[in-house]
Amino acid sequence: LGRHQNDDRPTSFSYNGVLFGQNTLNVFAGLCAVDTLEHVEIMMRALQAQGQVCTRMGAYKPRTSPYAFQGHGKSCLPYVFELAGKYGIKVIAMEITHETHLNEIRTALHQTGNATGVMLQIGTRNTQNFELLKIVGRQQDYPVLIKRGFGITLDESLNAAEYLASEGNRKVIFGLRGMKTNMGDPHRNFVDFAHVPVVKRLTRMPVCIDPSHSVGTRAGSPDGILDIMHVTAQGIIAGANMVLVDFHPVPSKALVDGPQALLLKELPQFLEDIQIARDAY
Ligand code: PEP
Repeated sequence: LGRHQNDDRPTSFSYNGVLFGQNTLNVFAGLCAVDTLEHVEIMMRALQAQGQVCTRMGAYKPRTSPYAFQGHGKSCLPYVFELAGKYGIKVIAMEITHETHLNEIRTALHQTGNATGVMLQIGTRNTQNFELLKIVGRQQDYPVLIKRGFGITLDESLNAAEYLASEGNRKVIFGLRGMKTNMGDPHRNFVDFAHVPVVKRLTRMPVCIDPSHSVGTRAGSPDGILDIMHVTAQGIIAGANMVLVDFHPVPSKALVDGPQALLLKELPQFLEDIQIARDAY
């Protein structure tokens, strides 16, 4: 991906008809966690109305508390994939935390006819789960979004991404999702989108930003613009190639991270702002 000195192949790739690279831009708006079939359908219908073909849908949720909702797991995959096919969704970003999840996704995709595809997400808590990285790197079927580890150096996170490539999978996107600091922060994490051009300079990976998990709230400036919107524009202007962002039809009913979810009525403006920032890039 850029760290092996004798290998300078580009890492742009096409997956299920969608192009990913350091010059493209893809938006993955969707549910942080799948909760009900109805919410999945409302979300996907809204995306289709906006001409979107990618989404995020969490089925396996790594939670800080063992008593918090852990995601519906494999039981929701059939309806998520069926509905994705129905609404023309081509790629779903979905975190996995264990190798069994990979097989569950593969089986469910086959059973629903493979109309849609999955981008496997390695979350920040598993950035240095090297055995999981090796297993995910060994399969070539699905591209991988690997998030930056929240408490390790950038160099260590880039090496984690390299684990995927060294095992054979070069369809890798690197995700910036904010860093933990002990300085006191108005946001959930310190927004690190200034590192978009740094990662693009150091590697050949497309770079994703996750404004939802970076900012973590719906707080906004006095002019009514949400911080999530501001930092998204900043990330796009910095050259981001992918945006992972939480929306929810009824955030108060979301089982995970409702306070940071954007409303469906905000989706058109969100996409329009991204286009304006992209044009400015
Ligand atoms: C997520 O995207 O759902 C998530 C849990 O993100 P992170 O790994 O960045 O915390």
